[in-house]
Amino acid sequence: MFPRPQVARSNRLKPIFLQFLLNIHYNNAVVALFAGGRLNYDIVVIGASSAGLFAAEMLAKNGKRVAVLERSDAMESEERTYIVTPGLYRVMQDFPSGIIHQEIDTFRIQSGQNQADIQLSSPDLVIERAELISTLLSRAAAAGVALVSNCEFLGFEIHQGKTRIKVRVDNSLQLVSADYLIGADGVHSAVRKSVGIDPVPSVPLLQAVVDLPAGWDSRMTKVWFEVEDTPYFYWLIPRNRNQAVVGLISEQGDNTQALLDRFLAQKNFKPISFQSGQAALHNRDFPTDFLVGDLPVMLVGDAAGQVKVTTVGGTVTGFLGAKDAAGMIWGDNQLPARLKVTRELDLHQLIRRLLDQMTPEDYTDLIEMLNPSVTNFLSQHDRDNMRSHFWKLAVLQPRFIPLGLKLLFRSVFIQ
Ligand SMILES: Cc1cc2nc3c(=O)[nH]c(=O)nc-3n(C[C@H](O)[C@H](O)[C@H](O)COP(=O)(O)OP(=O)(O)OC[C@H]3O[C@@H](n4cnc5c(N)ncnc54)[C@H](O)[C@@H]3O)c2cc1C
Repeated sequence: MFPRPQVARSNRLKPIFLQFLLNIHYNNAVVALFAGGRLNYDIVVIGASSAGLFAAEMLAKNGKRVAVLERSDAMESEERTYIVTPGLYRVMQDFPSGIIHQEIDTFRIQSGQNQADIQLSSPDLVIERAELISTLLSRAAAAGVALVSNCEFLGFEIHQGKTRIKVRVDNSLQLVSADYLIGADGVHSAVRKSVGIDPVPSVPLLQAVVDLPAGWDSRMTKVWFEVEDTPYFYWLIPRNRNQAVVGLISEQGDNTQALLDRFLAQKNFKPISFQSGQAALHNRDFPTDFLVGDLPVMLVGDAAGQVKVTTVGGTVTGFLGAKDAAGMIWGDNQLPARLKVTRELDLHQLIRRLLDQMTPEDYTDLIEMLNPSVTNFLSQHDRDNMRSHFWKLAVLQPRFIPLGLKLLFRSVFIQ
């Protein structure tokens, strides 16, 4: 089931008994997680972020002994405002409404002078990453997950067919045994590197916190297509009733800051602070499941490129990937279920390939093609649930077919 990658063997480290007492500040209490003895869990998860913590919680709730190892010295997160689809509720029915800062029920899209509104029948949700991570940490701890901070994954050591996980805790090297390893260590994944596959492709994402413009409906997000600047788009997302984030995704090598500064100046938005990072991109050619010696290794979240490349949203798809990986471990899911999220992401990769060919005139035409049947369709089906319905768009608006063929032709023969 798992392809065997070539993994370079490292010198065997002396087995050392872990002797540390790790305390993390957690809900203002200091929780002793581990005091001496040997770390030996059913499942070790690398990375205490959304995908890793969600996988850990589900596995612990199914009776597994799970440890999450996090490189940072504090289980906390930088400021980052997220917009996610209501698909979040499909994957986590009990998602706490208290951490939703804003609901979005209108998407306004603009290209040149043309614009169109799409009303969402179920609103998109605006959440803050730090609160999401803090919530997931609480849930994982309540389910019995051991949370270990200041613990960096370094690689694997294989001795006599037995694989162990090499980590650095403070300044000492330690070996950890487990039946499974889940790599949820993000876009620059060290787990991914250790199994010998290329880094996840990624693009720069930059957004500025600004005051919400006077008169702006705080339930409306706006997207501007400006293909001279980026094949993606600019956006304004209200993060609460008073503030918004204005940002863009650009391409590797672009001067993203200069592009955003110019856009902010044009629209007269004054930046209060910036949020930035590399956004992972799905690529269907890369595997996500491996066998390293005798240790099954699964990548989830950004480490697996489980991100919609149309919008580079990775939170819900990372949760879906985590859920599928956890389900495979406790025996609920078979491999085809794990492929479900991949197939959804493959569709986004195909759409992105076409969008990358769009000219300003094509966007103007596209906006004109948004007849009431199409906008009604788009209001019903969120971006995390497109695959089984997407073809219907060609029935609702037959003009999409020649546009799609033209873009496909360009992507194959002109680029
Ligand atoms: C500025 C910005 C805005 C974004 N906005 C949105 C949005 O609006 N909606 C959306 O859906 N997505 C958004 N994304 C994408 C989203 O942030 C990611 O898809 C999501 O965070 C992926 O989560 P993850 O759990 O896979 O990894 P990450 O959040 O990257 O977490 C990885 C964790 O692993 C830890 N780690 C790394 N290396 C090691 C190691 N060697 N050992 C131990 N631990 C390690 C890290 O410290 C980190 O805690 C945005 C991304 C950026 C950069």
